[in-house]
Amino acid sequence: RLHNMIQELKGNIRVFCRVRPLVDGGLSSHIQLAPSDNKSITLAKTEESHTGKSADTHKNYHFSFDQVFGPHASQQQIFEEISLLVQSALDGYNVCCFAYGQTGSGKTYTMEGEEFDDSRGVIPRAVQQIFRAGEKLESQGWEFNFTASFVEIYNETLRDLLYTGKPSKRPEHEIRKSNNEVTVTNLTYKQVCSEGQVLDLIALAKQNRSTAQTAQNDRSSRSHSVFQLQIEGANAGRDVRCKSTLCLVDLAGSERMVKSQSQGERFKEMTSINSSLSNLGIVITSLANKESHVPYRNSKLTYLLQGCLGGNSKTLMFVNISPEPDSFGETLNSLRFASKVN
Ligand code: ADP
Ligand code: MG
Repeated sequence: RLHNMIQELKGNIRVFCRVRPLVDGGLSSHIQLAPSDNKSITLAKTEESHTGKSADTHKNYHFSFDQVFGPHASQQQIFEEISLLVQSALDGYNVCCFAYGQTGSGKTYTMEGEEFDDSRGVIPRAVQQIFRAGEKLESQGWEFNFTASFVEIYNETLRDLLYTGKPSKRPEHEIRKSNNEVTVTNLTYKQVCSEGQVLDLIALAKQNRSTAQTAQNDRSSRSHSVFQLQIEGANAGRDVRCKSTLCLVDLAGSERMVKSQSQGERFKEMTSINSSLSNLGIVITSLANKESHVPYRNSKLTYLLQGCLGGNSKTLMFVNISPEPDSFGETLNSLRFASKVN
């Protein structure tokens, strides 16, 4: 309850920054974290002096976020900081959690993680928490209905990641909105009643994605994947109902491709990724500023999530960053993007 009060005071959008470890486990010197507050990060750049004199110019870029996680933060530690947010989905709040960042920065590691117990990411941990908490509430007279869906958005086209039919019969999808509810035509909405069932669906989605990946190299880094769990609860004894959606999104890589090198399909991908990510930023910022017009319909991603962004919903964005000095430019772009939505 205290958490919800604090959230209301602060607004419903939070940004967490997570720095991936270097391959050898450390952190390179151009990234400095303030250990005292865990809320700020400094990116230091050393440039050759333009005047031609010997001294280099040092430039520091400071950013602060709701939390900053260094390379040693464990999956468990990350989840501890968001478990209350996940919990509020059972209290009737819509919850959206995004991972934003360049390819290789740790988005999928954060959201999905690895099979191994300790390295499991946000999605499996959130699912586990929802079902465990749901069971407890059931002993207090609540009944829950859970429905899962899993969609990939590639080049502004939706693909059902829970599809099990013949590849040649794959249907097309359209997003529809009526009575404030967003639905996707021909999409698999699977009723689920246990953690295990959802984990099976996640495995199916992963398999579905890797099939597309084989046919088309590197596709997963250029598409958004959106896992949604709809929760309907009712307590007959107390005559109360609630309905909400938990959305967990692994966004397409935010890196800017070099325009002159992108042609044909690549150019189309680049422009659709850039425009959907920047539109996501615009939507989140206009919600934070309580603007009257929110341009949900400018991209498939925000249109799909229209029902769970805004209103009473709670949004958390992870900005994942890579520690390599080579990634300096992309890291700076990501931190700037994230501080605009914060
Ligand atoms: P993205 O999805 O942003 O492209 P990945 O999640 O695939 O990036 O991460 C790239 C690589 O770095 C993977 O091999 C992943 O296992 C590893 N990795 C990312 N974040 C961490 C972390 N916090 N700790 C350990 N390894 C990580
Ligand atoms: Mg990934």
